[in-house]
Amino acid sequence: MSNAEKERAWVEVDLAALEENYRAVREAAPPGTALIPMVKADAYGLGARRVVRALDPLGPWGYGVAAVEEGVDLRRAGVERPVVVFSPMAPQAVARAAAARLTASISDLASLERWAAEAGRVGQTLDFHVEIDTGMGRAGFTWSDAAQWSQTVARGQGSHLRWAGVYTHFLGADEADPEATRVQWERFEAALSHLSVPRESLVVHACNSAAAMRWPRYAGDAVRPGVFLYGGRIGGLESPALARPPRAVASVRARIVRVYDARPGSTLGYGATHRAERPERWATLAIGYGDGLPRALGNRGSALVGGARVAIVGRISMDMTVVDVTDVPSPRPGDIATLIGRDGGEEITVDEVAALAGTISYEILTGLGPRLPRVEVGDGIDG
Ligand SMILES: *Cc1c(COP(=O)(O)O)cnc(C)c1O
Repeated sequence: MSNAEKERAWVEVDLAALEENYRAVREAAPPGTALIPMVKADAYGLGARRVVRALDPLGPWGYGVAAVEEGVDLRRAGVERPVVVFSPMAPQAVARAAAARLTASISDLASLERWAAEAGRVGQTLDFHVEIDTGMGRAGFTWSDAAQWSQTVARGQGSHLRWAGVYTHFLGADEADPEATRVQWERFEAALSHLSVPRESLVVHACNSAAAMRWPRYAGDAVRPGVFLYGGRIGGLESPALARPPRAVASVRARIVRVYDARPGSTLGYGATHRAERPERWATLAIGYGDGLPRALGNRGSALVGGARVAIVGRISMDMTVVDVTDVPSPRPGDIATLIGRDGGEEITVDEVAALAGTISYEILTGLGPRLPRVEVGDGIDG
């Protein structure tokens, strides 16, 4: 059985696994902690609308995006919960953000003035969260100056603006050494103690996935998990909570489109970086770096075919990848190969692929291209 979405190569998205990962974050945080799932970059490549549809019944506080357009799209999809834009907004984006009732993240007084002016124009109350820079250096008010800026920010609240939250972002919550995170939390607390509004009136948050899983004491009122929801492991794994890895959510599959018996001496791919030393059987997969499969996996990575691990041989092309199936019994065009995910007892994790490619799971997931249809599934291979 087959359908148009599974003709060539595709990404399977396991929503049950996503929900289980969400529950794992909720259990790791102190009781009553709210969750703000980060669905930026199309929910790390897996589809923001479907992720929100799956998670909404679990009662998140709201959602986090990075681009105004991502928030606008959630509103179009009918999302009513708060949607926070977790990046400073270009002045050009402010009007659309306001029209969609998004929550702005405010990093400086000029942005606050623009948000206030827009709120006045549209004549309705707009929310904002204040970001406090405790070491990331890319956004946020400086933590040590809180006594100054917080007075101006508090005065900026009025009939049309509501200061709804305050947060910081950790620079190394996934590193083995917890020191940088501890220092940032202390700075955050110091800044909070100088705010000119009562802390109880604000949603206080700091934790990404790693911090949420590792340090319940930094949870504040809400945590902002991203990668763990989508099956990416947390670094700095010493704590027992992390003995529990996330369930895999994304699987990348591709059809075998050619099987070739290569004679000794046959060459493979650009640059002929692989040469058959003996009679070899090569299977061409209908997926390449143009789909987001890292080109760095050429001659290094693997795939699963018929439940067995096989080597990627030669360089990966834009649209095709070749694997050595010499030891696989009767591979045929139309058979499914797995580049990320499980097949039988074998699994290739997104973190394994990321490590081979010299990057992180986030970049692999968000790099999966639009040419790969996203298909919702239960467990395992079907199709
Ligand atoms: C992306 C992001 C997160 C989520 O980080 P993960 O490491 O994926 O859990 C949390 N907070 C902010 C502000 C972010 O931009």
